[in-house]
Amino acid sequence: MRIGAHVDPTDPLAEAAARDAEAVQFFLADPQGWKAPKPREDAERLRAADVDLYVHAPYVINVATLNNRIRIPSRKLLLGHAAAAAAVGAKGLIVHGGHVNAGDDLAVGFDNWRKTFAYAADCGGFPLPILIENTAGGDNACARHLEALARLWDALGDYEVGFCLDTCHAHAGGEELLGLVDRVKAITGRIDLIHANNSKGTFNSGQDRHDNLTGGTIDPELVVAVIRAAGAPVIVETPGGVEGQAADIAFLRGQLGAAA
Ligand SMILES: [Zn+2]
Repeated sequence: MRIGAHVDPTDPLAEAAARDAEAVQFFLADPQGWKAPKPREDAERLRAADVDLYVHAPYVINVATLNNRIRIPSRKLLLGHAAAAAAVGAKGLIVHGGHVNAGDDLAVGFDNWRKTFAYAADCGGFPLPILIENTAGGDNACARHLEALARLWDALGDYEVGFCLDTCHAHAGGEELLGLVDRVKAITGRIDLIHANNSKGTFNSGQDRHDNLTGGTIDPELVVAVIRAAGAPVIVETPGGVEGQAADIAFLRGQLGAAA
């Protein structure tokens, strides 16, 4: 099982080495901005690395919204990031489930997700797996509660869609971690990546505030149990820079190795 961290994009392989990580996740552009990613000069080196790479799409992307001025550029930006992520040999592009605005019909949001995959298919298809990530907050989210996730997967039908399970988002979003992997897999059939994070926010607080694994409001053993049940690669998106994340990775290796 490969374990790694979300790192600064300047030199992801150096960041991996500093943390003794077997995988890294990074952004290809400002996560709060709409700029398309630029080609990376180190693309060849990244492709050849024996570190597994994951790319996280910008937070501004919301392909579900009924607001055309967000949805249309979101689709394009997602496709642009998919091409750029594939160019560096990434194993997946992680994108948040998104939401509709208060008063808007969530069913239209799910259908907008379907249209996003239809649009991508018209453009030749996504060149790498798209991993939709569960989110922590909001009353109109497509991937906070499992009822919504089930409707999203129904809408996506036969499209090839991956899933990234974030333990902080699940807990803060109000989904119990105990047995969660089975409940998710009953919907998605797969979990491609675990975002292993503890949560500063309490259960069902709706707060997206990550903490180091042995801090926060989640029993760390529950995070370990989720990873073990999922059997998927792991990325920690925890604070504390090299030191904090290296400690989280070492903690997971110790826990997972102990019972292997
Ligand atoms: Zn995450």
